[in-house]
Amino acid sequence: MSTKVVLIPGDGIGPEVAEAAQRVIDASGADIAWTVRHAGEAALAAGEKQLLPQSTLDLIAEYGVALKGPCTTPVGTGFRSVNVLLRKTLDLYAAVRPIRTMAGVHSRYENVDLVIVRENTEGLYAGIENEITKGVTTSIKVATEGASRRIADYAFRYCRERGRKKVSVFHKANIMKLTDGLFIRCAREVHDAHYQDIAYEEVIVDAACMKMVQDPTKFDVILAENLYGDIISDLCAGLVGGLGVTPGANIGEKGAVFEAVHGSAPDIAGKGVANPLALVMSGVMMLNWLSVRRSEPRFAECATRIRRAYDRALTEGATTRDLGGKLGTMEFADARVARL
Ligand code: ATP
Repeated sequence: MSTKVVLIPGDGIGPEVAEAAQRVIDASGADIAWTVRHAGEAALAAGEKQLLPQSTLDLIAEYGVALKGPCTTPVGTGFRSVNVLLRKTLDLYAAVRPIRTMAGVHSRYENVDLVIVRENTEGLYAGIENEITKGVTTSIKVATEGASRRIADYAFRYCRERGRKKVSVFHKANIMKLTDGLFIRCAREVHDAHYQDIAYEEVIVDAACMKMVQDPTKFDVILAENLYGDIISDLCAGLVGGLGVTPGANIGEKGAVFEAVHGSAPDIAGKGVANPLALVMSGVMMLNWLSVRRSEPRFAECATRIRRAYDRALTEGATTRDLGGKLGTMEFADARVARL
């Protein structure tokens, strides 16, 4: 029987990369029954009243899984991020972002293979902002013991289950003594109580950025609160070839939404040049997740087939402009399909 998955095309380059990713996943034989639901500006354009329609949330909750394109977030004014709201509403508390160098993708480093585990529900993204008086604004950073322990436990478990060796917690507890102080205290306690077989370190986030740029191979699993996790995700994307090659997953107890790290890239939207690989790779993460969650090894087999196909296509130079190639979005997808 087909497996039901919600497909959210999103805004900007979203519909283009979503169509490409869907084509590659279908060609792998994964037998997915896609249902399209909208979010973001695309939802308003489709006649919905809200940027994040209840019907979209309900279907993700029912199927337990979605593949999602980026949704536009205007800077400074207007609505809060649809992406942040969706993660919070569905309690998708762990953002998992694997970063690795790939053959055929030019980057300054070799052998980078790390994973960012980002707390997805609180921190400064809790969205509590106030204008105290004209010219004076505040943003409140939230850190709770429950969410901090939960994400720490997720990161250590992820590390152990995948045979990784070390968790590095990025923080600024020297300045934010209460919030980041609580975050690292929880991480340390979870480590000491249950995961002493895993190496553990605490690194101040600014120094950590410098160390990552000097030698990213020193890092394995990185645990970070929401804002630091967001920023270092793009930094890490830059270490391995850019936003076109960095996938992501938002995982909760009841389900998961898979989406690339990149945004809606309005500068190249509608031109057919966006790189769909990050969303294809997010689709591979989705198939591996389905394989474990639904106890169906065939999904993992499809994931491996897709991964081999895009690795081969990359080494043969079949890439989009951002990676120095000439292919358009759908040509890129077809090059993978041809190798499946
Ligand atoms: P957001 O704030 O929504 O996360 P962002 O500020 O990270 O977005 P992006 O929309 O991700 O910005 O785009 C940043 C730059 O990377 C842009 O120049 C964009 O064209 C490029 N870019 C992003 N994604 C891709 C992609 N899939 N293929 C090619 N270029 C991309």
